[in-house]
Amino acid sequence: MKIAIYPGSFDPITNGHLDILERATSLFDKVIITIARNSTKHPLFTEEERLKLMREAVKQYKQVEVDSFEGLLVDYCRTKKAIAVVRGLRAISDFEYELQMALMNRKLNPHIQTVFLMPNERYTYLNSTIVREIARLGGDVRDFVPPVVKAALDKKFNKKKR
Ligand code: ADP
Repeated sequence: MKIAIYPGSFDPITNGHLDILERATSLFDKVIITIARNSTKHPLFTEEERLKLMREAVKQYKQVEVDSFEGLLVDYCRTKKAIAVVRGLRAISDFEYELQMALMNRKLNPHIQTVFLMPNERYTYLNSTIVREIARLGGDVRDFVPPVVKAALDKKFNKKKR
């Protein structure tokens, strides 16, 4: 059984994340999409909210598990018996940081490979930060996130305005 870990902040999960996740499911028997608890300092959505949104967004994928973790990614991989880490590469701007992380993780555990996947071109300019910003300013995010996330963003910002 080949298991991969797809780690990130997922604040919130977007169609870009889902594109990468779907590609990963064609390569691995099981993909664990997991929130790295220490990676975002002030997330918009709590960990519980993000987990709930992720569970709803990935429920059509039978090989996908949703989780969260704290601490070193390589240690988490070991406990899950994963052979690979999946990351998305959108542009050159992602590359430098991703290369550094991949090489450092390889130094910490040479048995775990980092696999980079490229999303459909229409998601290359998409990230969670820009989605949060559009939603905060009252824009329509329906092309960028699953319906459950759109509903959660609407709720969050309407509530804050009151
Ligand atoms: P992190 O804080 O770890 O970067 P993110 O949730 O922002 O967490 O992203 C998790 C992973 O998903 C990263 O590898 C990132 O490059 C990738 N990713 C995010 N948005 C997209 C997108 N639109 N297309 C492809 N990959 C993406």
